Amino acid sequence: MEITREFLHRMPKTDLHVHLDGSLRPETILELAQQQGVELPGNPKNAKEFRDVAKIGAYHESLADYLKAFDITLMVLQTEEALYRAAFELGEDAARENVRYMEVRYSPLLHTRNGLSFPVIVEAVAEGLRDAKRRYGLMSGQIICGIRHIEPKASLRLAELCVAFKNKGVVGFDLAGAEYDNPPKDYQAAFDLIRNNNVNLTIHAGEAYGPESIHQAIHVCGSHRIGHGTRLREDGDLLNFVNDHRIPLEVCLKSNIQTQAAESYESHPLPFYLSYGIRCTLNTDNRLVTDTTMTDEFEHAVRYYKLNIGDLRKLVLAGFKSSFMPYRKKTTVTAKIAREFDELVREYEKKLGQKAITDPRVAQEIASQLSSADGTRPLTDAQVLLERDEFDTSATEEA
Ligand SMILES: [Zn+2]
Repeated sequence: MEITREFLHRMPKTDLHVHLDGSLRPETILELAQQQGVELPGNPKNAKEFRDVAKIGAYHESLADYLKAFDITLMVLQTEEALYRAAFELGEDAARENVRYMEVRYSPLLHTRNGLSFPVIVEAVAEGLRDAKRRYGLMSGQIICGIRHIEPKASLRLAELCVAFKNKGVVGFDLAGAEYDNPPKDYQAAFDLIRNNNVNLTIHAGEAYGPESIHQAIHVCGSHRIGHGTRLREDGDLLNFVNDHRIPLEVCLKSNIQTQAAESYESHPLPFYLSYGIRCTLNTDNRLVTDTTMTDEFEHAVRYYKLNIGDLRKLVLAGFKSSFMPYRKKTTVTAKIAREFDELVREYEKKLGQKAITDPRVAQEIASQLSSADGTRPLTDAQVLLERDEFDTSATEEA
């Protein structure tokens, strides 16, 4: 069966790695700047001029260069209203392309220039995501980011904030920012606090730095997922450990090409990881700065790596399985998504008059996904009961 863009748009998806400050609408930035009397660099008059000034979707010499666009977006993200709007609109954009679960990350420390306090910032984002859920049913949670190029003490404050808001809209902690010269082990106090309080942890690693940063993230900091992990393939032993322990990678294809973490789509390690059995998820990283969507990311993967329906199903379900939702809820949601995906495939088979699966190996792979006790098996009566209020118990609504 031909995998069309429309199919990729319609299939249920997750986005586990998306930065709030890198995912605004250009029109919103211009409007916020006008409302707040903020003069943007280059004084852009419309979305097109803004995209040129901020080098949206452009190729960068390094991750550090790529991060410069955030200096602009952060200029207008210093009020409660702006944070609420950015979170709500991000939820809206995601829901409109059938993202069903999203984990939005940002560092509250970067939103305090006009005196906002940490709790006010987290509440404003939570409110935006809650409203997106009320309107579109999008489940979501926040990930609080420690920042690499700012002194480690600040990241400890952010870890404390994360603990305070655990189960109140916040689902995890991350360490983001320029990887080079800022190894995760320097932030040990923050990670100790996170671990001692049983908080979910993901760390940007193996993007702008070698596999040793992934090793540290897992073994020194105790990370449960890896942001990017592009350079994991350079260390075969660690690759096997990540595979054996089912540690998910948050792969962001277009962003990796843009920051030169990978030279090209052709040389990106994703197809190798998939064939090796690594648990990979696809993510946007930054909808605005990278100029991408989840549908785009899947389209690139299908086009460059010739993914079949079985590969797609696995990738989609890996997103739900790797989320920081509580396990009991996650199994119910994943099972439901698997059924929805299968129904969509049947619909397209009829519409296109083509069989989705022609290769018996793919059929076998899907059959094994269906029968394994990993959240994709058919729903039991007990799960059906739990499912009734499934869309009313998201992490953000518990706040
Ligand atoms: Zn990122």
